[in-house]
Amino acid sequence: GSNSDAIHSTLLHGKYELGRLLGQGTFAKVYHARNLKTGRSVAMKVVGKEKVIKIGMMEQIKREISAMNMVKHPNIVQLHEVMASKSKIYIAMELVRGGELFNKIARGRLREEVARLYFQQLISAVDFCHSRGVYHRDLKPENLLLDEEGNLKVTDFGLSTFSEHLRHDGLLHTTCGTPAYVAPEVIGKKGYDGAKADIWSCGVILYVLLAGFLPFQDDNLVAMYKKIYRGDFKCPPWFSSEARRLVTKLLDPNPNSRIAISKVMESSWLKKAVPKSLLGN
Ligand code: ADP
Ligand code: MG
Repeated sequence: GSNSDAIHSTLLHGKYELGRLLGQGTFAKVYHARNLKTGRSVAMKVVGKEKVIKIGMMEQIKREISAMNMVKHPNIVQLHEVMASKSKIYIAMELVRGGELFNKIARGRLREEVARLYFQQLISAVDFCHSRGVYHRDLKPENLLLDEEGNLKVTDFGLSTFSEHLRHDGLLHTTCGTPAYVAPEVIGKKGYDGAKADIWSCGVILYVLLAGFLPFQDDNLVAMYKKIYRGDFKCPPWFSSEARRLVTKLLDPNPNSRIAISKVMESSWLKKAVPKSLLGN
């Protein structure tokens, strides 16, 4: 439409040239962009400010960006800089070219060895962030990208506080994604531990990778929440017994007894070596 044409012709601060749309999330669009000075390609996340962004929000986003620049990790998308126009916020970040892990699962469940490789990388990224006090709070296959070698990169990290503000302020509320990855204590809104909530989401992701479908599903939202509260799911028969044990520990509805990330890293299922040649197919 005319709006996106306007975006495409934008020369951001005379610095970036915006190209094609790479992806769309709950409240942002991400475009291919090129830094005109260096020639480097980046991913540019464009967020409409609308009226929801109060005074002071920009400072908060900048703080988040600098925090993110402190969590450099091979499995986390690096943020470069943040810019703003009158109506929009632009976040330049590392470009990841292989698409979402979501698209891979959409073609069917993964072999256990392949799922292990992705999960090892996810846990490594999440553990790194937790050790630095950064919590994602929106881990799901749409936010896990694959580079050209098949390496997993977590995106959206550290911006979760900001995105939650937008959601609570009602922006694009109806297009808010499925709550299928959200921990029971988060639904309960009684306050929660960000680390434990992330671990739950990792459990849902591991289940989805191995099963090809969600652990908690129901056309009725209330019924789905009930299943999440109870931790009411079944592992399909093709899960190995070790995978079953790990998924069950991750999807413990009680955050206090849920497995800690250090124990996930020590688990026999995760620690098995996998040939890297399995990736990139
Ligand atoms: P939202 O916060 O609205 O969910 P995201 O940051 O998740 O927005 O970006 C939306 C989509 O854009 C992602 O699901 C992905 O497909 C694509 N995307 C996000 N970051 C990158 C990136 N660094 N490189 C390539 N594509 C990306
Ligand atoms: Mg997203």
